[in-house]
Amino acid sequence: MTLLDKFAPLAELRGALAASGKVPSVATPMDAIHSATEGVIDGRTVLLAGTNNYLGLTFDPECRAAAIKAVDELGTGTTGSRMASGNYAGHRALEREFAEAFGWPAAIVFSTGYQANLGAISALAGQGEFLMVDADSHASIHDACRLSMATTIRFRHNDPENLARRLERLGEEAKKTLVVVESLYSVLGDRAPLTELVEVTRQHGAMIIVDEAHSFGMYGPKGVGICAELGLLDRVDFVVGTFSKSLGGVGGFCVSRHPDFELLRLGSRPYIFTASPPPPVIAAARAALSRLLRGDDLRAQLWKNIGRFNAAVTRLGYRTGSKDPGPVTALVFGERQDAIAHWQGLLDAGIYTNLMVPPATPAGLNIVRISLSAAHTDAQISRMIEAFEQLAARLRPAA
Ligand code: PMP
Repeated sequence: MTLLDKFAPLAELRGALAASGKVPSVATPMDAIHSATEGVIDGRTVLLAGTNNYLGLTFDPECRAAAIKAVDELGTGTTGSRMASGNYAGHRALEREFAEAFGWPAAIVFSTGYQANLGAISALAGQGEFLMVDADSHASIHDACRLSMATTIRFRHNDPENLARRLERLGEEAKKTLVVVESLYSVLGDRAPLTELVEVTRQHGAMIIVDEAHSFGMYGPKGVGICAELGLLDRVDFVVGTFSKSLGGVGGFCVSRHPDFELLRLGSRPYIFTASPPPPVIAAARAALSRLLRGDDLRAQLWKNIGRFNAAVTRLGYRTGSKDPGPVTALVFGERQDAIAHWQGLLDAGIYTNLMVPPATPAGLNIVRISLSAAHTDAQISRMIEAFEQLAARLRPAA
């Protein structure tokens, strides 16, 4: 037995997936990227429908220009953490801009979305305190729980009653609890019953943090997210987000309606012990944030694409992971082979999507995940629909 032997079952799964098609679905090699919606895989130009580029801002002229200007003026990296040499004017300005977007007093920028969860959650709840976490949370949330010294309790996915029972069981200790949920779950694209979850949290005197990684930019007034859409910004305590999806970059943020949230800078290890984001990353994120707050044009195009695509796959008999159409469409298959055949068939038709199979999926589901973008043109959406029409005629669409 060596330390590496434990990876054998994962290598076997990767081998099985690779054997089912000419390109392995895990770590698909992107040889080149031409635009927000086109890239090159295995020497072929493909339509990208498996990224998180929801607003298509990776190639936005303003974002690119801002990044280039920042590299020219400030260099490629900060080479230090925010606590040391990496606390530039741009980082501080971006934090103010996030706080203003939410109408809240406090915001902290982290180097990735993963670290935003790690940094906020692990610092907010410590020894003798509690984390009450939705069971289907993203890995960064589960890892944050491991880093925290708090007692972690999972509640059933999207189940406010189950959360209520667990909080009740804590009695007075519920007041020392942080409830952690996502607004829109990234694998199935399902929405949390946020109003109910927030209500239960408040009834028990706990606090709640909402990860809006897949909804910030796309929902609510000015795109600020689902908490804003539901009018919950006076009751939610913290919102986490990432730059790596609608903002088209890399980085993360956490905003709060509590001014004291700023104090986390002094005690959050994932904030303190890592280099701050490079100047071009911050400049591009500022330009992207300003772009998405400025108008609803990108959101309108995205929602038009979502409406057309979802109507088509539903008409063709595909089962989706969520009743609410959104930027993530998860097509659910009963058999792993059906999901693989669809994923491969789409790639053969020049369309890249995500294949997700157990153990990486909730409830052991086999999923082809399609993410739509405001940058997808009407013609590209038509191409996707035509590909599904042909696949549905050849393969079994539903579970
Ligand atoms: N939270 C959720 C819900 C996510 O889906 C992701 C990324 N997939 C993250 C956090 C981490 O974000 P990033 O990739 O920007 O580090």
